[in-house]
Amino acid sequence: MSSVMSSSRDVGISTAPLQLDAAVIGAGVAGLYQLYLLRKQGLTVKAFDTASDVGGTWYWNRYPGARFDSEGYIYQYLFSEELYKGWSWSEKFPAQPEIERWLHYVADRLDLRKDIRFNTTIASAHFDEATGRWRIETDQGQVIDARFLITCCGMLSAPLTEMFQGQDTFEGDLFHTARWPKEPVDFAGKRVGVIGIGATGIQVVQTIASTVGHLSVFVRTPQYVLPMKNPTYTPADQEAYKAKFHDLAARIPHTFAGFEYDFENGAWAEKTPEERREVLEQVWQDGSLKLWLASFAEMFFDDAVNAEVSEFVRGKMREELKDPTLCELLIPTDYGFGTHRVPLERGFLRTFHRPNVSLVSVKDNPIAAITPKGLRLADGTEHALDVLILATGFDAGTGALTRIDIRGREGRSLKEEWGRDIRTAMGLQVHGYPNLFTTAAPLAPSAALCNMTTCLQQQAEWISNCIAYMRERGLQVIEADQQFQDRWVDHHDGIAEATLVTKTNSWYMGSNIEGKTRRLLSYIGGVGAYRQKCDEVSAGGYSGFIIR
Ligand code: NAP
Repeated sequence: MSSVMSSSRDVGISTAPLQLDAAVIGAGVAGLYQLYLLRKQGLTVKAFDTASDVGGTWYWNRYPGARFDSEGYIYQYLFSEELYKGWSWSEKFPAQPEIERWLHYVADRLDLRKDIRFNTTIASAHFDEATGRWRIETDQGQVIDARFLITCCGMLSAPLTEMFQGQDTFEGDLFHTARWPKEPVDFAGKRVGVIGIGATGIQVVQTIASTVGHLSVFVRTPQYVLPMKNPTYTPADQEAYKAKFHDLAARIPHTFAGFEYDFENGAWAEKTPEERREVLEQVWQDGSLKLWLASFAEMFFDDAVNAEVSEFVRGKMREELKDPTLCELLIPTDYGFGTHRVPLERGFLRTFHRPNVSLVSVKDNPIAAITPKGLRLADGTEHALDVLILATGFDAGTGALTRIDIRGREGRSLKEEWGRDIRTAMGLQVHGYPNLFTTAAPLAPSAALCNMTTCLQQQAEWISNCIAYMRERGLQVIEADQQFQDRWVDHHDGIAEATLVTKTNSWYMGSNIEGKTRRLLSYIGGVGAYRQKCDEVSAGGYSGFIIR
């Protein structure tokens, strides 16, 4: 490999292109590990991030109440026992400040910061066919010349911030949850509006309700929710989960969703109604995502099973909400449980019993505009607000990459191609874009249906191993074969279409963005199965990829 193999050196800004073996975009969970792995191989590599520090998702999403829906001890990296055991969580589902501190700990322990350019946005990346390298430009005009480009941008990092007519006329404070300020926001005595009750809106609402003057929650589509039980950890609890390290490391990568638990309750059809209820009750009591990701797999593709599980959850929500109007507005009836991301809640439903909280249904009376003094609905109703919080989600999966001008062979544009159809080879490469590797991209479990660290570690390792394979053989360029990509898309779609997930509208299907290709973003064949397929490809000398 004719590349700069000097160990990672600090390179100052200059007019000459920065020569790298690999450029990594993003310094979150995936980017940190990718940087670590490639540097360990001896590559000259730098990571670039718009943020002023590490963290990725956990840097940007510092809104009130932001916390894991995965257990902290399974969200950690599993490649190093020492790194794993050197960190102790204070509770089962830690909050954003603690998560951010953990990622700082990782960056410090692995000495990663020296190879990260913060406050730097990658604006464009063009593949040069003559050299087989990427010419990358930052927003500050710096040029980087790299053999490999690896995107570690996250699947939920392009927030939908410009949502409503008149937004810029609002005279109060307006925030999108994924662009939350570092300084505390004072809600005392204020009239606050929250738009959206996805996993984010739920966390915001339940957290700020007791601190605001009045809270108006604008609800379009109700959500199935599961209760979160979040015990604080004593030193003995921390020791107990750390003692499971080897078991976790052996188990988590092979489960359906990269969690500690899996579907192990036997077949739904072989159980009596009482036995099914017993299982559902048990997983409900766990206070985690277990009911969704480890009760009965049949709920994902069998209408009758899904209907029963949905009714079980509705019953639980009715018990909590009590009030018939709240039940009507907050309990879903027209789609099945688990057919899009299930959020955990800690008092979200009960929040609507508070006298200072109003639920405003915007299902049949949509938000028409944001006005200087608040918000106006289609029927002309005005809601006066001092603070407006957009918990309106993201251009998921694709948005992180299409906002960069990425051009592959013959100048083809990834934005234009994905605008027509979203296709990838296992979510690891895109045909037509040699030497571009992607993580958390469409058609892999890491695009949604996964405990993120599990899937991102696997992808970062696969990419690193692939690059090592090439270097050992003096190979320069790798590209996913068109037929291989087509076969993967067909395989992905075949599994997706057999599930009920494709029948529900959500960001999983791209349906939160008008005109976006409708395709399940995330591979739903299972994290373990995906890993196995990736391993088969590498064991076969990267069959399906053309390497020269
Ligand atoms: P989201 O799930 O896409 O939810 C967006 C919300 O905004 C929905 O309730 C949506 O309503 C509403 N909305 C959008 N446009 C609207 C409009 N014009 N009028 C009224 N309502 C509107 O986004 P999110 O809550 O940010 O969550 C995205 C994902 O981030 C989650 O699914 C999860 O994977 C991840 N997340 C994870 C955690 C965690 O692990 N702890 C926490 C937060 C988020 P409709 O449903 O009607 O479109």
